[in-house]
Amino acid sequence: MTFKDLKLEPPILKALEKQGYTKPTPIQEQAIPILLKGNDLLGVAQTGTGKTAAFGIPILNHLLKENSLGQGRRKIKALVVTPTRELAIQIGENFTAYSQFTHLRNTVIFGGVKQSKQVDSLKQGVDILVATPGRLLDLINQGYIVFSNLKYVVLDEADQMLDMGFIHDVKKIIAKLPANRQSLFFSATMPKTIVELSQRMLGDFERVTIKPEQATAEKVKQGVYFVSKNNKPNLLIHLLIERPKDSVLVFSRTKHGANKIVKTLDKAKIKSAAIHGNKSQAQRQKALGEFKDGSLKVLIATDIAARGIDVDDLALVINFDLPNVSETYVHRIGRTGRASASGIALSFCMGDERPYLKDIEKLIKQQVPRMGEHPFMEGADLVDGSLNKKSQGRPNNRNRTDDKNRDKNRYRYQK
Ligand code: AMP
Repeated sequence: MTFKDLKLEPPILKALEKQGYTKPTPIQEQAIPILLKGNDLLGVAQTGTGKTAAFGIPILNHLLKENSLGQGRRKIKALVVTPTRELAIQIGENFTAYSQFTHLRNTVIFGGVKQSKQVDSLKQGVDILVATPGRLLDLINQGYIVFSNLKYVVLDEADQMLDMGFIHDVKKIIAKLPANRQSLFFSATMPKTIVELSQRMLGDFERVTIKPEQATAEKVKQGVYFVSKNNKPNLLIHLLIERPKDSVLVFSRTKHGANKIVKTLDKAKIKSAAIHGNKSQAQRQKALGEFKDGSLKVLIATDIAARGIDVDDLALVINFDLPNVSETYVHRIGRTGRASASGIALSFCMGDERPYLKDIEKLIKQQVPRMGEHPFMEGADLVDGSLNKKSQGRPNNRNRTDDKNRDKNRYRYQK
């Protein structure tokens, strides 16, 4: 199937061609016809499947056909609600790309920055609004956003909304939507609360399920190092020094942990930056921009901040901490091995994280290959690129639990 077969409007086809999209991804192939018919949709799919275009293209196609450029100021006709600023910006960029040969205009609003610029752009009038829930509710309550002309609504990454505590905000937003609308609901997983939320939002709907987990896990070369907590930074430095030219995304479970990694790498003269919820929007955008253009090689991210990071040449993902939710592992390693590139995902596993590894292997239905022995099986420190004098020759310095785990974890690399 090609995009032409979907009978899209010429300016959209032209934009897709310019983007270099030759054929629809599976979710696009399935969802676009449903949406062009005007039906509601439940999409069980995650970032990386091409879902933004799957909902963006039909919305733009509808708006073009309706020739929505009426008299006076533009009114909001389509709304996309997404959990993070990064995702919101990315979705806005996609809309801009796909609508570049049309008169349609979008704007993006999110929290953590002053609202004045966002309010100005709303006042100028937009066709498509992309928003995170908190700021959206704020601006609705202040009277800057009116939904009387709204016809298309997308709730993106619903399960993430739940994880981030946005569920009440989302319910309030849904209550404010006009009844006569086309609704689209996307979630990577469907726990009970999310099923209930989807029922609240959708009318008669069609369902499209895309499970990239297996495919992603198979495409990415994976490996796990067993390493003590204290030695994780040393192993990270070692791996980064081995591949100075590669773009590497390092995942940390906590914001504090991410900052600590940046400091440690800094001492080892490895430039890196962290992105997480405590960083300002400007800091996050700067780090992400530099990472995308290749001037920053190492980015440390928490899971929430990393959602939607879309870097074409990402060679390596390192799980400094293993996630306690197995699906998160699949999301993380799916950041690499995109498109035709085959990526590598390496994980650090300390004793306490063994149960997480077990759960992950159950989910991906394969064993993550063991990377065998490495230079930091022992207690040596390599924080500043040389042996740390304090721990040199002082094996008693070692943490006993780590030692026990090290022996237990001494696996050979298995192909
Ligand atoms: P998403 O799941 O929306 O975050 O999209 C993941 C990536 O796939 C983005 O970089 C998109 O630009 C890209 N993409 C989306 N649809 C297509 C397509 N049909 N062909 C090639 N790349 C695509």
